[in-house]
Amino acid sequence: MAEIGFIGAGNMGGPMLANLIKAGHSVTVFDLVQAALDAAKGAGAAIAGSPGDAAARRAAVITMLPAGAQVRDVYTGDGGVLARAAEDTLLIDCSTIDVTTAREVSEAAAARGLEMVDAPVSGGVAGAVAGALTFMVGGAESAFARAEPILQPMAKAVVHAGPSGNGQTAKICNNMMLAAAMIVTSEAFALADRLGLERQTMFDIVSSATGQCWALTSYCPVPGPVPASPANRDYQPGFTAAMMNKDLKLAQQAAEAAGAATPVGAEAARLYDEFCAAGNESLDFSAIFKLINAGR
Ligand code: NAD
Repeated sequence: MAEIGFIGAGNMGGPMLANLIKAGHSVTVFDLVQAALDAAKGAGAAIAGSPGDAAARRAAVITMLPAGAQVRDVYTGDGGVLARAAEDTLLIDCSTIDVTTAREVSEAAAARGLEMVDAPVSGGVAGAVAGALTFMVGGAESAFARAEPILQPMAKAVVHAGPSGNGQTAKICNNMMLAAAMIVTSEAFALADRLGLERQTMFDIVSSATGQCWALTSYCPVPGPVPASPANRDYQPGFTAAMMNKDLKLAQQAAEAAGAATPVGAEAARLYDEFCAAGNESLDFSAIFKLINAGR
């Protein structure tokens, strides 16, 4: 079993590190927030006083941070992970961040002779608690082979997406598709309502017709047809509109940099931004139905 440094013990990182401890690893945690450290200690972790202390003398370092700025700072800052990690430490960033930062930090790690993967996740807090996340991993074959067994206790699936940055690319492409599907599913229910088609009837027909999609059959944005969906509990998350908004912005930033046309993705980003600006950030992202259903 390995000595692992874990930086960023928030809503996702907390349960993820608890699953590593349950699997028999020794985990040393750093976070800026005392409550996160207290919870990690309660789960059996040791506590470090800085990112560098969490990284020193570990087989692997895992980060689960809000965005690219924090990832860059924790790895490349003075006395940070790159400055203190041993030669054979594997670096695994599980945060969802922009592709450019992911590749630049990985290059900085390589310049120090360290292997690094980007390994963002899908599955949300419920998946983190259950040890059932999907990890989308970008990095060299050799780094993936080392990361896979470490990620396994937190995972339902660990998929190699290709070289550095490709994990982040897979994540933002997936979420751009999901956002667009959620919006158009909401539009279909709003239109069907106004034309007098019962929601349950619409659901029954479309779920076995060509409009079928995960946003409809697993995460239906109207109450009723899918009992487990957040629509049945006043849109408590789940996956917040704020998180979706962040991922859509990352997708648009990447599309612009790559010269890719994403007109529907751009409109999805605009709609989620409007929805969040109206004070709905903490609702589940399927609550976009409320904005759509408000009508023209
Ligand atoms: P969170 O805000 O709950 O946790 C982030 C943690 O990082 C906090 O405890 C914070 O104190 C800590 N932190 C911030 N800056 C730090 C620093 N410089 N040094 C050390 N610790 C620092 O966020 P979360 O929901 O756990 O999400 C983490 C990442 O996972 C994000 O990139 C998010 O996009 C991604 N993600 C979240 C979900 C979800 O459903 N919550 C799902 C998939 C992916």
